[in-house]
Amino acid sequence: MIICKTIAEVLFFKQSLTEKKRTIGFVPTMGALHKGHLSLIEASKKQCGTTVCSIFVNPTQFNDKNDLARYPRTPQADIKLLEEAACDMLFMPSIEEIYPQPDTRVFSFAPIDEVLDGLHRPGHFNGVAQVVSTLFDIVQPHQAFFGLKDFQQVLIIQALVKQLHLPVQIVPCPILREPDGLAMSSRNALLNTEERKAAALIPKLMQEAKELSKAMPLAEIEKKLIEKVKKEPLLNPEYLLFCDAQTLQPVNDIINKKVICLIAVYSGKIRLIDNIVLS
Ligand code: AMP
Repeated sequence: MIICKTIAEVLFFKQSLTEKKRTIGFVPTMGALHKGHLSLIEASKKQCGTTVCSIFVNPTQFNDKNDLARYPRTPQADIKLLEEAACDMLFMPSIEEIYPQPDTRVFSFAPIDEVLDGLHRPGHFNGVAQVVSTLFDIVQPHQAFFGLKDFQQVLIIQALVKQLHLPVQIVPCPILREPDGLAMSSRNALLNTEERKAAALIPKLMQEAKELSKAMPLAEIEKKLIEKVKKEPLLNPEYLLFCDAQTLQPVNDIINKKVICLIAVYSGKIRLIDNIVLS
């Protein structure tokens, strides 16, 4: 696997690709890689001649300085996993390489960036749009692979690509889970034993939301499940909402639309998200 740290090195790598290897699949990450990330690499390898992964902990998407400071960083283990996964190139830029000057661009993806994480993490999706559009400029992938664990992020990236007329196809990929159902996440490594145990309730709530939605009004389910989270001393709910899966606007019923239930919960100090599509 080739490791590039600068944009010049990426351009050199791209120029060296033979005709057959020229279709680029791209998997942008913040590192501390797990099987969820590797499933995106695998998806890219199935469809593209060359697979590029990036590891960049993007400061502009962190609205909470402590969250940025404690974000797990495991570059050596990441390189080993990517080599084993036969990733072709890893782009690992410095902050100065991506932001030689502060990025002052302001994006709007209303209404989808005004709800859920857009509401609770002000500036987060603007930072995501900044870094992803910059990485797309540098890598110029044909396809880019994103996990549906970050469902709202997938919609934002699709809107970004449309707004900027970028010639890249966004490929949403399924959520990979731990044996007890918890969605894999780099942040799971930050949970202590008790917080990790408590977090196992999250996927169970998602399943329950789906089951109950067949018979009970959605607003009542939201209330009931939020109460359940509150009963668990280590968990603190931020939101649990049923939304239209295209607009992310709140819905009262599941008739004639694709509905998704999304959750954000703190386990101790660690913020975790999950979702389930009801269809
Ligand atoms: P991150 O490093 O957390 O920014 O994630 C990089 C990419 O991996 C994003 O597209 C995530 O949605 C995706 N991802 C993270 N966790 C999972 C998972 N459990 N299953 C599938 N994709 C994931």
